[in-house]
Amino acid sequence: MKKTIQDFDLNNKKVIIRVDFNVPIKDGVITDDNRIRESLRTIEYAINNNAKVILLSHLGRVKEESDKLKNTLLPVSKRLEELLGREVIFIDETRGTKLEEAVNNLKNQDVLLVENTRFEDLNGKLESSNDEELGKYWASLGDIYINDAFGTCHRAHASNVGIAKNLPSGVGFLVEKEIKIIGDAIKNPERPFTVILGGSKVSDKIKVIENLVKLADYILIGGGMSYTFLKSKDIEIGSSLLDEESISFCKEMLEKYPDKIILPIDSIVSNSTTSSENSKEKFITDFNKEDIGVDVGPQTIELFKQYLENSKTIIWNGPVGIFEVEGFDKGTKSLCEILKQNGGVTIIGGGDTASAAINFGYKDSFTHISTGGGASLEMLEGKVLPGVDIIEEK
Ligand code: AMP
Repeated sequence: MKKTIQDFDLNNKKVIIRVDFNVPIKDGVITDDNRIRESLRTIEYAINNNAKVILLSHLGRVKEESDKLKNTLLPVSKRLEELLGREVIFIDETRGTKLEEAVNNLKNQDVLLVENTRFEDLNGKLESSNDEELGKYWASLGDIYINDAFGTCHRAHASNVGIAKNLPSGVGFLVEKEIKIIGDAIKNPERPFTVILGGSKVSDKIKVIENLVKLADYILIGGGMSYTFLKSKDIEIGSSLLDEESISFCKEMLEKYPDKIILPIDSIVSNSTTSSENSKEKFITDFNKEDIGVDVGPQTIELFKQYLENSKTIIWNGPVGIFEVEGFDKGTKSLCEILKQNGGVTIIGGGDTASAAINFGYKDSFTHISTGGGASLEMLEGKVLPGVDIIEEK
């Protein structure tokens, strides 16, 4: 078990917390502050325990000098002030005397936010390549390091692995929750354990399928990727999304696990991926050359429901249709509803499935919606996350 923020005496200590403030910003205005809100529990815990709080986060990508203006954390510091109801000292630099002096002047319960860690990427990707000196430098600013940025745990950066190497370390409440809920579901699921996979390309999910097919009781496949599986059975898929290079992988999986991998039996087809004007329901075996499969059909939803109703653990990664287009969103919406009614553990990997579920009004209808698409996907692949791995054991 990894140490958590609760395993440390924070009184009087300079506590560096790596948070995920990578929020969408348009014209200087934050359009979704969910990630800031998700970090509040850990920050408030540190304040309430008398720490001097130093916050580090990345925001977007910084490839050239001009990226700095749109990727400054200044708007985040303002929003954080409002949410915390206290002053946030914003330092518009990532290193140097100004930062060091501000850190040395911190009083207990003060909160300081350092400028975007990726500003360091301008000098040779120091942050993103986990430059040793940079990790050491940031570590020198504090006494304890807490990682609460789940969204970057699958990457070894200076602001996570680099600092953790040089300080006593633990995870914050958000990372603790993510690794516990997803980790428990994979390692020790209450059965039946069913996985729903959707999204566009099979090739992006090969490692997830290889890992989960051994652990789960059923894998229900929808979305763009289902048509490559159907094609591997020599079914006519018309003009649906096809991931040629994955056909042989799909064939192999279906031969090895015929009762575990469940494919759609019908589909919504259209002649366009952007408008549902000319869409209709078709059995999977009735496609003609022009048909594009854009969503799972009603009979598939009924079939999936039979598996899901009895499942005690469900993990879902990838929308089962082009949910962004009205009329092609029914499958994904229906699955949200079925999972909402399920009394077991229901987990949504981050990314598109999370935004779909939240936009459809199901934010509070699951056991957990992961805040990190890439990181949760790597957990499902069975990989160790470097940002978590480096944290001290209890
Ligand atoms: P991913 O990032 O691989 O999880 O893929 C998410 C994307 O898959 C979303 O943008 C969906 O619109 C897309 N998607 C889902 N179903 C289909 C489909 N039948 N055809 C094409 N794209 C799809």
